[in-house]
Amino acid sequence: MIGSGFGGSVAAHRLVEKGYRVAVMEMGLRWGREDFPPTSWSIHRWFWRPRLGLHGFFNMRFFRRATVFHGCAVGGGSITYAGTLLRPPDKVWDMGSWAGVADWKSEMPQHYHTASRMLGVVENCIMGPADHLLKRAADALGVGHTFYPTHVSIFQPAAGEPGGNSVADPYFAGEGPERATCVACGGCIMGCRYGAKNSLDLNYLYLAEKHGAQVFPETKVVGVRPLPGAGDGSAGYEVRSLRSTGWLPRNRRRFTSRGIVFAASALGTMELLFKLKENGSLPAVSEQLGKYVRTNSESLIGLRIPRCADDLSKGIAIGCGIYIDENTHIEPVRYPSGSDTMMFLTTPLTGGRPGRMRILLWLKNLLVSLLQHPLRTLRLFMPCGWARESIILLCMQAAEGHIDMRWERPWFWPWSKWLVSRGERIPTFIPQANRFAERFAQLAGGTAMSMLPEILFNVPGTAHCVGGCIMADSRAGGVVDYANRVFGYKNMYVTDGSVVAANLGVNPSLTITALAERAMSFIPPATRTAWDDQAEDLGKPSSGATVTARSG
Ligand SMILES: Cc1cc2nc3c(=O)[nH]c(=O)nc-3n(C[C@H](O)[C@H](O)[C@H](O)COP(=O)(O)OP(=O)(O)OC[C@H]3O[C@@H](n4cnc5c(N)ncnc54)[C@H](O)[C@@H]3O)c2cc1C
Ligand code: SF4
Repeated sequence: MIGSGFGGSVAAHRLVEKGYRVAVMEMGLRWGREDFPPTSWSIHRWFWRPRLGLHGFFNMRFFRRATVFHGCAVGGGSITYAGTLLRPPDKVWDMGSWAGVADWKSEMPQHYHTASRMLGVVENCIMGPADHLLKRAADALGVGHTFYPTHVSIFQPAAGEPGGNSVADPYFAGEGPERATCVACGGCIMGCRYGAKNSLDLNYLYLAEKHGAQVFPETKVVGVRPLPGAGDGSAGYEVRSLRSTGWLPRNRRRFTSRGIVFAASALGTMELLFKLKENGSLPAVSEQLGKYVRTNSESLIGLRIPRCADDLSKGIAIGCGIYIDENTHIEPVRYPSGSDTMMFLTTPLTGGRPGRMRILLWLKNLLVSLLQHPLRTLRLFMPCGWARESIILLCMQAAEGHIDMRWERPWFWPWSKWLVSRGERIPTFIPQANRFAERFAQLAGGTAMSMLPEILFNVPGTAHCVGGCIMADSRAGGVVDYANRVFGYKNMYVTDGSVVAANLGVNPSLTITALAERAMSFIPPATRTAWDDQAEDLGKPSSGATVTARSG
């Protein structure tokens, strides 16, 4: 297993259950609840940039077409995620290359059900001040009927009870760890210091390890090649790794395995497969690698309400959502009190045409605002109190739009190849979401804010990067088949977000988990495996036809 996020943890747990010996290689560190940084000012314990001595669990990668936020830890993105787990609308199964490769609408509900049970999904009953504020704005702006409490993987106290109570495993009939109920501190994104967020190290991965999976933290996989004698991997694979946290590449290790699961996230799996295809280790990986990378058509908008009477950081990280039109979904995100560093990425909201004109418009607006309301404008740039006074509106659309990733030498670093983004630019902001944010700000007495990289570099930000190893009916159309098996190799799977073939319009982790559950359901128990499992190149099914997946 390469990576221990949603796809990796599901695969580890299910394979151990089926009697396989499982090793999980994870580049990030293992975190206990007492290790999480109290605020985002503890940059070295929040950010992941080991070459700079930063050994946290959150990373930002900058590309010309998108800024990608992602997690890096034992438990993958679940350590930093907000815990929002939503099902996408049915229409996403008719979009993109996975349309027609399985009977999604009848198959997926059972896997969503299992994923939700394992992740402890409940309807949120903790409404914080930011949620109430959004409800009031939605009512005033005519979309109040779309307001809903999110489904979340957070262990919530019973109605009327305070949070913070420890209880023996409430989820797995005593098999799981002790837990505590949520205290509504708003800190989910900085790692839950109370043990209330159902991150993967407390469910799937916990159970996998308990039953024999071996997790190797701080272990970065750098090589995978078929063992000699069978170029298709039917004899097994050699896996090479390095210690990920050292200054120099050290602690080189070599493992062998019969099968392999790539679950290193969309970016991680693409990066590794590009490297392995290029250096001749896995030359048969589809040419579609890196195509159809999606950002959930996402845009982040800030809202700062100086001297707000309520502490907007309280509640859970994402407690509710609304739809401002059929396609545009907005969730209010918060950071815990004191985690004010995100302020440095925000600036007063600016629309206009992307590019130089938008930068000029931004400078003009900023100047006018400084001249007209100098104190109010300067106050927006004071980090102190930002989290208590701010909401980030996470705006998503289930609309078509993608970029491509390639493996190239960037002009500024011609010595080695990197993942670089190419293709049509995706819109940096959603005009109707900007209009909503402006009116919301007027109603709440605050100021709407854009993300600075969006304006300066015309680059949207996303925490939900998916695709790049998309699922399709043939090697000509994608990298994996309907059962997540890599075209061209035996006993090789991809189970992370890179297989997702459409913008979901909602946070993707529940879908990644459900797809991984589905993929693992096809694998027979260890005692019955013939070690010859390979992708089926089905060609384009005739219109309306569906493929019935084989059972284990
Ligand atoms: C701040 C934030 C909040 C979020 N909130 C939500 C939310 O509320 N709901 C939601 O649905 N989604 C949320 N997401 C997105 C969610 O975290 C991702 O969609 C999800 O984690 C992707 O799962 P995955 O299985 O593809 O990979 P990941 O969970 O990203 O796991 C991949 C793992 O592989 C490891 N890895 C990478 N390369 C290698 C290598 N070469 N060797 C070894 N290990 C490697 C990485 O360190 C990582 O731990 C959020 C993301 C962020 C950044
Ligand atoms: S709000 Fe606080 S206690 Fe509740 S899950 Fe999030 S971090 Fe944990």
